[in-house]
Amino acid sequence: MTELILEAEGLTKRFGGFTALKDVSVGFERNCLTAIIGPNGAGKSTFFNVISGAFPPTSGRMRFEGRDITGLKQHEFARMGIAKSFQITNIFPHLSALENVRVAVQAMHSRFDLWRPRENLTGLIDQAHALLALVGLGGHGPRLARDMAHGEQRALEIAMALACEPRLLLLDEPTAGMSPEETKGMMELIQRLAGERTVVLVEHKMKLVMGICQRLIVLHHGELLAQGTPDDIRANDEVRRVYLGQ
Ligand code: ADP
Ligand code: MG
Repeated sequence: MTELILEAEGLTKRFGGFTALKDVSVGFERNCLTAIIGPNGAGKSTFFNVISGAFPPTSGRMRFEGRDITGLKQHEFARMGIAKSFQITNIFPHLSALENVRVAVQAMHSRFDLWRPRENLTGLIDQAHALLALVGLGGHGPRLARDMAHGEQRALEIAMALACEPRLLLLDEPTAGMSPEETKGMMELIQRLAGERTVVLVEHKMKLVMGICQRLIVLHHGELLAQGTPDDIRANDEVRRVYLGQ
């Protein structure tokens, strides 16, 4: 039997009187690349925000590696091994690429060991270089983040998310606003990262993820419409109806 790294049980999120997420129960398999898809307004980002600890569900429960994580704070999610990159870029524009990643690595270290007098700076810089190389930005360390192309900034942001060595990496629309070439590069990066850890991404362009994901979860009007392999989803009449004309 496949192991579930993250389990969501009856997740509901209400904003005032509006239900953005309704009773969603779903499991994410370890070391599997899963995409959450659905048309705009389907509740994808809301679901993403709930499972990444950005805000608590109105009701329902979540388990990560068998432990109940419902109601934990965002930083506790990160400490447990869940990292996310946002739909909006989250980098320090006036710092270099290397400094951005170094700050993330340093934040991770200080969180784990507040009493160590001073981290070995060379060690931190080596780690930052390794993360830049991992996301395809090797050699770009000295460049200011603000001077980088949009696609490079998104890759940088992922390098920062990887600084806490997550076992689960959550990405919300990683290709938003990207050119076709940037999109291709990002998809390759995601596949590469997914070989080593569990990756869940939110994407509204279904075609983009069909070729690279092992599992898909389809949301519609805040509800779970379907889940399964790309072939299951392709053959699903309800999904076709929802995506018709897109
Ligand atoms: P998606 O990411 O699939 O496009 P969202 O999760 O962003 O969808 O939004 C789902 C629905 O919830 C939308 O109708 C949106 O207007 C609503 N919504 C999202 N966030 C909030 C919020 N903070 N307050 C009120 N309504 C929200
Ligand atoms: Mg969204």
